Amino acid sequence: MNIIMLGAPGAGKGTFSAFLEERYSLPHIATGDIFRENIKNNTELGQKAKSYMDQGLLVPDELVVSLVADRLSKDDCKAGFILDGFPRTLVQAEALKETLADMGAQIDYALDFECPDDFIIERMAGRRVCKGCGASYHLVNVPPKQEGICDVCGGELYQREDDAPETVAKRLEVYHKETQPLIDYYEKEGVLKCVDGTIGRDNVFKVLAEMLG
Ligand code: ADP
Ligand code: ZN
Repeated sequence: MNIIMLGAPGAGKGTFSAFLEERYSLPHIATGDIFRENIKNNTELGQKAKSYMDQGLLVPDELVVSLVADRLSKDDCKAGFILDGFPRTLVQAEALKETLADMGAQIDYALDFECPDDFIIERMAGRRVCKGCGASYHLVNVPPKQEGICDVCGGELYQREDDAPETVAKRLEVYHKETQPLIDYYEKEGVLKCVDGTIGRDNVFKVLAEMLG
């Protein structure tokens, strides 16, 4: 099962991907996580990506397309994958289609998690992420058992630089301009499934389980 996660920044793609990863034993490939990992390790890719990310802008297509193609060629993607945060532009969507065609594969589901902007803005203000494993929490909606500490690995929780309110506004603007057109694109491809992203985490899990079996 090959799945793409669509939706605005902060719509919950990371949380829902983790659920699907566990349920269907598929690798969860999150381009934002890959970039953050590269920044942490101060790689060349990380250095190139950082300034775009801190400003709430997209990293240029050429940096991300080859990275994803490379990742999808790995053995663990043969039985399927969850792509979270990619594609984010029409150029990326077309490149993905070609990469998959070369592998004799195609997208089965493009899941769009729908959330209004004001909902996103409020959610991002409370989002906290683990420095150790990248797990995502919310001060009010998904609090960790112990304040400031990751339930999964005991790591320290922090607020991402790009979750600052001004940057969130910029990311939403970029989302509407660059990424929202993909909803039409995947509708035309016949693989789009829309999910209300505002109904709470566990309700979304139920909807996903019913939808995907
Ligand atoms: P969110 O979904 O909450 O916006 P991500 O972790 O997916 O966060 O992405 C964080 C940042 O990483 C993006 O704002 C962008 O700068 C960069 N990024 C991630 N994926 C892509 C992509 N496919 N194309 C371009 N930039 C990307
Ligand atoms: Zn952790």
